[in-house]
Amino acid sequence: MKDKLLKFLSHVGMVKISCVDSTLLVEEARKIHSLNPTPTAALGRLLTMGTLMGASMKNEEDRLTLQILGDGPIGSLLVSANCKAEVKGYVANPLAEVENRADGKLNVGGIVGKGNLRVIKDIGLKEPYIGTIPLQTGEIAEDFAYYFASSEQIPSAVALGVLVNKDGTVKRAGGYLLQILPDTPEEIIKLVENRIAQSKSMTEMLESGMTLEQIATYISDDLNTEVVGEIEPVYRCDCSKERMERALISIGRDELNNLLKDEKTELQCHFCNKKYVFSNEEIKELIK
Ligand SMILES: [Zn+2]
Repeated sequence: MKDKLLKFLSHVGMVKISCVDSTLLVEEARKIHSLNPTPTAALGRLLTMGTLMGASMKNEEDRLTLQILGDGPIGSLLVSANCKAEVKGYVANPLAEVENRADGKLNVGGIVGKGNLRVIKDIGLKEPYIGTIPLQTGEIAEDFAYYFASSEQIPSAVALGVLVNKDGTVKRAGGYLLQILPDTPEEIIKLVENRIAQSKSMTEMLESGMTLEQIATYISDDLNTEVVGEIEPVYRCDCSKERMERALISIGRDELNNLLKDEKTELQCHFCNKKYVFSNEEIKELIK
């Protein structure tokens, strides 16, 4: 089994849809960070959003960063993505937990709390694009729908879901991003809105055996919905000793001199937990 992300056009190109099954990559994140169930759902939703937005970027060097800065028990969340839908992320408190909601679902809004959502797009311009909005519910999908409407002026429907097994492993994860281009006739917008209002949740649709093609066709209410792109999204960290060296250099000479008090310096990557060890000789080289 592999994860899959498909891009579609419907209504002769007026409606753009990206649809993803991200089950394996969310389970990978859960294992790397030993996430509790509600943090699994929260980071899983943000990673899923990262694949959808990352896949819409054009160039290999483009980088997307999604940050949630809330006041809930999980603390902050961060996800980084590229145009190949390679994602990585972490949360401040992987072992945080809150009571389930009254309907029995994991309380993502409760663990995230109130705060801001920040979208940073580095697409090779002088300054990266930064868009910040106040969190609406902390449930993440609603927050992104609000972000697209207010910051990018694109009417969008966003669905993100993570279903967690009793043993804490990920049963199913996925999502979609549907965007309506400018000048789309009102009757088409109505069709799509009605379908989305009637549809089940993304994980329910996947669990019922619907394919990504069937989901996209259903939510757009257009039998001529066509696939225009396919990517395999993955959890991938691109850290290296060179990157860690650059991070060390950026802390400055005084801080580096401080590190020499210890026998060696150990750095751990936030995204994959890999450890990098620097000897004092190596630190001295960096100081030079
Ligand atoms: Zn790493």
